[in-house]
Amino acid sequence: MGTIREGLYDHEGYAARKLGDGTLTGAWTQATARFVAYVGACECGWAADQEHPPTPDGEVAALDDWVDHADHQEAAQMADRRRRLAETLRRLGGIAADVEDPANLPRIVRAADRARALAAELLDAEEARP
Ligand SMILES: [Zn+2]
Repeated sequence: MGTIREGLYDHEGYAARKLGDGTLTGAWTQATARFVAYVGACECGWAADQEHPPTPDGEVAALDDWVDHADHQEAAQMADRRRRLAETLRRLGGIAADVEDPANLPRIVRAADRARALAAELLDAEEARP
């Protein structure tokens, strides 16, 4: 029922209902039918600071707040992948002197596989951008 974004796991977003006692809930039951505001929320535990009226427009505005959260999470994920790729490439460069010993080949293969996988994830994410 929530909103998801491909490649951004653990961040399903929804317009939470804020109840009179301040509780946020994603449940749509008779007990939560009377609510005071919509608030953008995410399964990761994030909730927006801003409240929106308990109307259809308010629900859309709350989901827009989640989109900002998802954009931020996605940017952080990309930055983390770039950092890990750079670190893996530095490690690969560091073991260039070890290629004479066949015992090092498994380690080299693992590092090269890791670099390839990280670069492919970055490329996929770039290509998925609108
Ligand atoms: Zn989240």
